[in-house]
Amino acid sequence: MIVDGAHTGKDLEERFDAVVIGSGAGGAVVAKELAEGGMRVAVLEEGAHHKTTSHTDLPYEAISRLYRDKGFTTTVGKPAIPVPMGRALGGTTVINSGTCFRTPTKVLEHWERDLGLHSLTEASFNPFFERVEREINVVDGEFKVMSRANTIIHEALSKRGTPGKALKRNIRGCEGCGFCCYGCPSGAKQSMDVSYLPKAFLAGAKAFTNTKFERFLTEGRRVVGVEATFHRDSGPSTGHRLTIKAPLVILAAGTIHSPQLLRNNGVAVENRNLGRNLTLHPATKVFARFDEEVNGWQGTPQAYYSDLLKDQGITFEGIFVPPDVAAMTVPFVGRRLNEFMRDYKHMAAFGFLISDSSTGRVVRLPFVGTTVLYNFQEADIEKFRTAIAFLARVFLEAGANKVYTLLHGYSELSSEADIQRLEKGRLKAEDIDGMAFHPLGTCGAGRVARWDQRAGEGVMIADGSVVPESLGVNPQVTIAAFGLRAAEKLLESRP
Ligand SMILES: Cc1cc2nc3c(=O)[nH]c(=O)nc-3n(C[C@H](O)[C@H](O)[C@H](O)COP(=O)(O)OP(=O)(O)OC[C@H]3O[C@@H](n4cnc5c(N)ncnc54)[C@H](O)[C@@H]3O)c2cc1C
Ligand code: SF4
Repeated sequence: MIVDGAHTGKDLEERFDAVVIGSGAGGAVVAKELAEGGMRVAVLEEGAHHKTTSHTDLPYEAISRLYRDKGFTTTVGKPAIPVPMGRALGGTTVINSGTCFRTPTKVLEHWERDLGLHSLTEASFNPFFERVEREINVVDGEFKVMSRANTIIHEALSKRGTPGKALKRNIRGCEGCGFCCYGCPSGAKQSMDVSYLPKAFLAGAKAFTNTKFERFLTEGRRVVGVEATFHRDSGPSTGHRLTIKAPLVILAAGTIHSPQLLRNNGVAVENRNLGRNLTLHPATKVFARFDEEVNGWQGTPQAYYSDLLKDQGITFEGIFVPPDVAAMTVPFVGRRLNEFMRDYKHMAAFGFLISDSSTGRVVRLPFVGTTVLYNFQEADIEKFRTAIAFLARVFLEAGANKVYTLLHGYSELSSEADIQRLEKGRLKAEDIDGMAFHPLGTCGAGRVARWDQRAGEGVMIADGSVVPESLGVNPQVTIAAFGLRAAEKLLESRP
């Protein structure tokens, strides 16, 4: 059942066994598992419920409706990096690309060996991965629905003798329309709103949308419920409130918001790691102009990958944005922008993300509010240089007449000599025009949350914030597995 907070017209007071704050990759999983385990569960979601049939093929309209702050969330630092997040029933999974990876073995080994997180082993996580993958239908991607921008790279890497692979994706009957990041209009992408949450509702869970969690209700140090405000379609408050009494609160508001919500409520504030150790998987793309018409926005944009440089902390993945989004986001102006957009149908693109060694933190600044501080360290600048040079070479070998990068000072590369200039030249953090889609780590297990994901009496954490650090691959399956783990621990410990 879904109660739209925009239309309650009155204050509400209810009782549940558990309240989940946030309905994304972590929260939706906890809600379903607890509801199916026989608990009365409420889910609070600040965003609205957008039915599959309401998704449009107008990216800018979709970004305004489905993205937090209309997509304008960014870090403060060198360089400033946009960090888009979803705000909708289903969280960021509504606007993600549908790429699925398990937590890499090496990362789990590192957590166990170097961070002392002995309960986060591959053997203990494998059953969670299997269950999550079954629920969200993770399957091998199909070449027939890939954007041509992906197959150009596939052909070029195959010629080199080092082909990549089709990405695994959580889809059922994907038509390759290319709108994954703007809400899948056919419901093929098995985001939380079409996979886990309907099952949670079937098992009796109740979601409150347009409902913003504000504060915990406490008895002594113990959290015994929550207070939230109802909003008009993610806009101003309606003036009405929701009060829920519940002995258990699961915080799943995402990596940027969860530490701030704990801090606002005086939970775990004595822990100096709260809000720190933020990793982002900074990412960017490289465009390449071909004589052929690529029409890269047709077909699944993120469908192919290469882990050839994974030991250097680089994962290459397909990416493409529709022309209107490109025109607004590429750092070109005037005549260059005109030329770039005129040629857009001839452009291929491919991207990468890095496993960052830089870390940032989430703080609250006076007059500004929640702020993400993050600076690129030298090692990560070098990963960008290596990855961009690699992609430029592959594109030129594939027959591109020109490569466009989003690096200041090296924005056009047409020859091996240009690539070598990039490899040897000076590169500063401020020269990088990147983005980041995977914030993690601000309430890391073993640092802020305990090994069992508890952060205080009556509070557990089950979102990207609890993932200890950078994975080097897309995190939704890892986050969902942490959600499942949290739910299992709760159900086991129930009297
Ligand atoms: C464009 C894009 C593409 C991506 N592609 C992929 C991909 O292909 N594969 C992959 O693995 N990952 C991808 N990701 C990342 C992935 O989707 C996220 O890492 C994941 O969804 C995070 O899960 P979460 O539970 O931590 O938070 P979210 O899914 O962000 O959910 C948190 C929810 O909490 C809500 N919330 C916040 N504060 C409050 C409050 N005070 N009260 C009530 N509700 C609140 C938010 O509105 C949000 O809906 C992508 C991300 C983006 C932005
Ligand atoms: S390509 Fe289209 S049909 Fe396939 S998952 Fe993405 S939005 Fe859905």
